[in-house]
Amino acid sequence: MKKRSRFIEVKCKDCENQQVIFNKVSNDVECRICGRTLAKPTGGLAELKSKVVDEVD
Ligand SMILES: [Zn+2]
Repeated sequence: MKKRSRFIEVKCKDCENQQVIFNKVSNDVECRICGRTLAKPTGGLAELKSKVVDEVD
């Protein structure tokens, strides 16, 4: 099965802001409220530094 790219909703561990991000990122994704890193690029799927609350198809 091929891994699909999709959007996921994550919650910042510091300020509880919820934000929809892509699960493949080419740059660090930061929380738009507090600036905490939510996801890091790995070359494949993003390494998540935050809690996934939902997957968006
Ligand atoms: Zn935050």
